[in-house]
Amino acid sequence: MTEKPDIKSMELSELQLQINELSEKSYRAKQLYEWMHKKMARDYGEMTNLPKTFIEKCRERFSYTALQIVKVQESKIDGTKKFLFALSDGNLVESVWMRYKHGNSVCISSQVGCKMGCAFCASTLDGWERNLLPSEMLDQIYAITLFTGERVSNVVVMGTGEPLDNYENLLRFITLLTDENGLHISQRNVTVSTCGLVPRMYRLADERLQITLALSLHAATDEKRKKLMPVAQRYSLDELMEACAYYFEKTGRRITFEYSLISGVNDTKEDAKELTALLKPLNCHVNLIPVNPIKERNFAQSDKTAVEAFKNMLEKNGINGTIRREMGRDIDGACGQLRKSHMDKQS
Ligand code: SAH
Repeated sequence: MTEKPDIKSMELSELQLQINELSEKSYRAKQLYEWMHKKMARDYGEMTNLPKTFIEKCRERFSYTALQIVKVQESKIDGTKKFLFALSDGNLVESVWMRYKHGNSVCISSQVGCKMGCAFCASTLDGWERNLLPSEMLDQIYAITLFTGERVSNVVVMGTGEPLDNYENLLRFITLLTDENGLHISQRNVTVSTCGLVPRMYRLADERLQITLALSLHAATDEKRKKLMPVAQRYSLDELMEACAYYFEKTGRRITFEYSLISGVNDTKEDAKELTALLKPLNCHVNLIPVNPIKERNFAQSDKTAVEAFKNMLEKNGINGTIRREMGRDIDGACGQLRKSHMDKQS
């Protein structure tokens, strides 16, 4: 059986062609598109102003993505909500909803599992299953918007998976998400986080999008980074920094560096010095995140004093750093923890 085309992953112009092929009036494409991407319909059945015969044709011809909520956990500390979703093939993905002063933010997954193998991350422990479709990335946001009844203003692709390892689908997702006929989220309110797939970073720079690129650094020497992140064996820090400089040059967008502080591993004075030297030539911002310990690995969070000292060292040298508030610590807030604990319980 060949799979039906995924209607929620189509751009409006593509949908228009499909609708023309069905010999339907072309304004139907826009109506359908708005039902999917503006009103976030869960099924064709909700599209009350469309003729039944037309809907039946669509049902026959296209598949329609609608993620099912399996579980919602709400933090009693800060109201952060973590969602576990089931995809149509039974795979599970997780997303996080956070409320900030400047608006609501959703952190979405881009793949089922992950190939990257970072030592401190729960998402990669069971390996990689498959890429998410654009519609499956969008639907995490749609389902959460419907559940909370509140508009999402920021999207971060920082959940499970390596977004630049699912490049085509990621770009299509961004196009749909920022489209004026859909949720119309500004590119500037979209952040994509990568562990540093250098060739894809160049490609992304050449797209000249106005999104923010976050780079997961976590170490300032090749030797140390290789121990934490297998991707460092493929690309050296020199190559990575060159790609970052190129990204800034092409897009004018300042890179955000993610640095998870692990006690005794990457949080010493020496580490801060090396990080300063590495980042000094760049126009950037550093997010310092006390590592979220996962039970499968023996990494401890840096204590408050070490985190403060680390930040001060950077700032003394003119590098902006923010200590990221931990959100949802009480609800398996770190990448991949909820999915993993749910699957472990069932097996
Ligand atoms: N693959 C992408 C995006 C997903 S991970 C990337 O590597 O950037 C999102 C961020 O969370 C990355 O910076 C990642 O290194 C970090 N992260 C993963 N597990 C973590 C943990 N247990 N504690 C703190 N940060 C973690």
